Parts: sequence; C-alpha cells; structure tokens
Amino acid sequence: MSDHSGLPSVRWSLRGLTDEGDEAWLIRGISRKLYRCPGCHGEIEIGAEHTIVQYVRRLGGTEHHHWHRRCAEELLIPELGKVKRIPAGESSQGKLEARGRRKSGQRRR
Ligand SMILES: [Zn+2]
Repeated sequence: MSDHSGLPSVRWSLRGLTDEGDEAWLIRGISRKLYRCPGCHGEIEIGAEHTIVQYVRRLGGTEHHHWHRRCAEELLIPELGKVKRIPAGESSQGKLEARGRRKSGQRRR
C-alpha cells in the first residue's frame, strides 16, 4: 500500500504534481452522465463513484477528466509526485478554478 492513505473520499481529496509541474487534484465524484475513462477507454456508468482529476496548470488554466477509481489508482497516482491528502472542501470546483486564474508567482504564501 502507498503512504497517501488511499483514494479520494467524501472527506479527502488528493493533490499531486505532474512532471510538468502542474497540480493534479483527485476528487471523489458521482457521474451524472456517461464518461469515458482516459486510463482504459472504458465507460464510467451513470451514478458510479469515480475519480475526477482536475489539473491546475502552472501557467494558469484548469482542465478535468473522469477516471475509474481503480484506473486512477493504478495508472495515474504512481505518475504523480508529492501526493498528499487535502480536505475535500479545499478541492471544490470553484476554488480550483480560482487557483487556475492566478498565475504562479502571484500566489500569496
Ligand atoms: Zn478506466
């Protein structure tokens, strides 16, 4: 088992860094429509618990994808650096989009 205590849940999200230095936030979600998982190209059924991966780009901007929980765990999380648990309230869509609007370097400490 890894040391970041598992997958995103109702209470916890995960945040890691990509090779490019972008933030990748992993958030628990319930699908409201059919999604296709970028990991296995399979479908994620409506109503399924899955992992939303929201990227916050180093140079600004956000982008998200929907992954099967297991695919995210096996394929995505191992690629990320510095994976940490973050309280889920910090990973709301609005907060992450606000982060993406600020360029790095203008961020307050
Ligand atoms: Zn998948």
